[in-house]
Amino acid sequence: MYEDYLERDDFGFVTRAINEGYNPDDDAYNAIVPPISLSTSFQQQGPSQNKGFLYGRFGNPSRQMLEQCLSSLDNAKYALCFSSGLGATSAVLNLLSPGDHIVAGDDLYGGSHRLLSKVAGRLNIQTNFVDFSDLSNVEQAITKETKLIWLESPTNPLLKITDIAKVSEIAHQHENVIVAVDNTFLTPYFQKPLSLGADIVMYSLTKYMNGHGDVVMGSVAVNDLHLYEKLKFLQNIMGIVPSPFDCYLVNRSLKTLALRMEQHMKSSMAVGLYLESHPQVDKVLHPGLPSHPQHTLLKKQCYGYSGMISFYIKGGLHETKIFLASLKIIRHGGSLGNYTSQAMIPALMTHTALTPEERTRLGITDNLIRMSVGLEAKNDIIADISQAFQAIREQN
Ligand SMILES: *Cc1c(COP(=O)(O)O)cnc(C)c1O
Repeated sequence: MYEDYLERDDFGFVTRAINEGYNPDDDAYNAIVPPISLSTSFQQQGPSQNKGFLYGRFGNPSRQMLEQCLSSLDNAKYALCFSSGLGATSAVLNLLSPGDHIVAGDDLYGGSHRLLSKVAGRLNIQTNFVDFSDLSNVEQAITKETKLIWLESPTNPLLKITDIAKVSEIAHQHENVIVAVDNTFLTPYFQKPLSLGADIVMYSLTKYMNGHGDVVMGSVAVNDLHLYEKLKFLQNIMGIVPSPFDCYLVNRSLKTLALRMEQHMKSSMAVGLYLESHPQVDKVLHPGLPSHPQHTLLKKQCYGYSGMISFYIKGGLHETKIFLASLKIIRHGGSLGNYTSQAMIPALMTHTALTPEERTRLGITDNLIRMSVGLEAKNDIIADISQAFQAIREQN
């Protein structure tokens, strides 16, 4: 089904996910599993003399291990972890000054949209939100003041794909414009924005990267030392740092990232094909399927596709509500990338800040459902969807 994806160029990914950032030989007791260091303070051998750590906010061994592992997964020189995905985005935003300008995608994650429009806007940093599936929009939106291009690919919830290499090329024709890609939906296992020319890759580690639904955390990875130093300063001085315990959990989760992503892909492809064949479905949005208008672009810039799928069912709010209320193993919820499948209505949950007219214009209508296909047996996921459609038929 997916043998037509590009051959992977980094089979070492899984081995690096398991080994990078920690060597048992360096531990006092040679523990094979990386230990958690909860201490907020570190004994100094003398003034400014230590083993790399002084105070917990500046850095600690558990965070350092995770950051090293994360940088390796993106083939990046540096990575930094933050208290949440939006914390990571706030640090990137704080690279800018009043009067600077941002060009961003028009169907971004709701929180990122609010951060750019409501917080940055108040600091006199204006953002133009444009549709990145037509790159002339991006070209036209760049001004002398533009310092940052912020994009997601795929977008949320419409799963449109942006040509990251082309956007980077356009941006870098201008001086001092940096390109940041929110890679939360695909993870470095399926997409490496830095290799495509972006300057910053950002994650909500809360989603696939941790994958167990029990940590809120974010990260960025970069290759430029100067950019890294500025972001590291902001991580510390803005106080947007994660706890050592959470770092331990995310680091643990990275060991199974590749296996989980492979299964998310297999199951979401099966669910997508099932939905495409279902008479109560109007349209399926799944970049991994040949029916998606940008499937060729996805195959060019990615190694595969995750568990994110959106679909329009026949009918309106009445039908979508019955559908969600009838699901038995798929949970009704707004998060994604966890071992549990979750579904929701974007028009009622994540995109309420838009007016009904804006939602209609973008295609975020009441009959649109977004689903994160989890790690349950795929036949059980499909059977659950099937019985929810039957519930609609019975109640109509
Ligand atoms: C969840 C999410 C975020 C925000 O991350 P938090 O960890 O919740 O702060 C940003 N971008 C995308 C695509 C997300 O799904």
